Amino acid sequence: MPRSLAALLALFFVLPLSLHAQPHPHSHTARAIQFPDVPGGHTLQMDLHTHTVFSDGSVWPDIRVQEALRDGLDAVAMTDHLEYQPHQDDIPHPDRNRAYEVAREEAAAHDLIVINGSEITRSMPPGHTNAVFLEDANPLLQDDPRAVFREANRQGAFVFWNHPMWTPQRPSGRPALTEMHRALIEQDLLHGIEVVNKHKYSAGALRIALEHDLTIVGTSDVHGLIDWDYEVHAGGHRPVTLVFAEERSKAGLKAALEDGRTAVWHRNTLIGRASHVLPLLKASLSVVDAQYRPNTSVVDVRIANRSDARFLLDNQTEVPFHTRSDVVPLAPQDTTRLLVKPGARQEALTLRFEVLNAVTAPATHPTITFEVVLPEAQEETDR
Ligand SMILES: [Zn+2]
Ligand SMILES: [Zn+2]
Repeated sequence: MPRSLAALLALFFVLPLSLHAQPHPHSHTARAIQFPDVPGGHTLQMDLHTHTVFSDGSVWPDIRVQEALRDGLDAVAMTDHLEYQPHQDDIPHPDRNRAYEVAREEAAAHDLIVINGSEITRSMPPGHTNAVFLEDANPLLQDDPRAVFREANRQGAFVFWNHPMWTPQRPSGRPALTEMHRALIEQDLLHGIEVVNKHKYSAGALRIALEHDLTIVGTSDVHGLIDWDYEVHAGGHRPVTLVFAEERSKAGLKAALEDGRTAVWHRNTLIGRASHVLPLLKASLSVVDAQYRPNTSVVDVRIANRSDARFLLDNQTEVPFHTRSDVVPLAPQDTTRLLVKPGARQEALTLRFEVLNAVTAPATHPTITFEVVLPEAQEETDR
């Protein structure tokens, strides 16, 4: 590679450290989920599927807000079931916007966006669907599911298919589109699909999203407590949808969701279209230093990871490492040292890895490349 190009690439990979050195503005707590912004967009974290006592959840809506604040989320949607309300003898709630209103009051003094939503809870087809960014959930109480989708869309809602891998409605656990789903997608009444719901990931749902241009969504679908479901004390995290938005607002989130600008963060894995996962990987990882060890051609490379992902990289080049096999873990929010053995001193080094804990299509992992400029060989003879 020409020297000037190498220098340029080195700049690209080295400089972002200083730009991202300040903590994420929403990192109020140690457990807060943190990913860096991408070029041209904020990386916002949202949970688009939660329940409260206003349907079959076990908590008052204020707890959903408190959990979201602890997790450093930018937004949370209240999506109680419209048609399933097992607590209604104890908690009457004729107004289906009530959980949202209580949550919004709780969040008023905080920097958290609360979104009004409903889970349209039907047998298959169409199964369960969330409508979020609703103006008024009450008019969604209609018998014909098609009429409910039309009303949600009339209100400008973002509508996505919930847990298409849910075995009570799909015993194989493998999602399949029905005629009704195809019609809803064709009429632009259904816009997204849960590729992750609670603890489950579905490659089939990811395939459907890619083939039918649906937005990739991952949610907690929490009914109890986030801490108990996801063992946050032991380093776990709820699944979140990472939304790449031009502005941090309801409108910014909605526009990005409608445009499919998302990835999912689930069990330490990033799932999304390559066009969205790759910029996030580039924003998260960079080589911040590379030096020859004295009197050797072994290079001490330092790779910074500015995300919460514990990345697992698989070496795709012939160049071996000094202390590790071909699989290299990168600790979250930390810098990892990698000793690389190119065999002889040279001007530049290409490191290329498959990112094993990122998924851009079923069983497909993206590749990331670092072009590393090395110090002049003559420096050694000066010592
Ligand atoms: Zn439920
Ligand atoms: Zn459901």
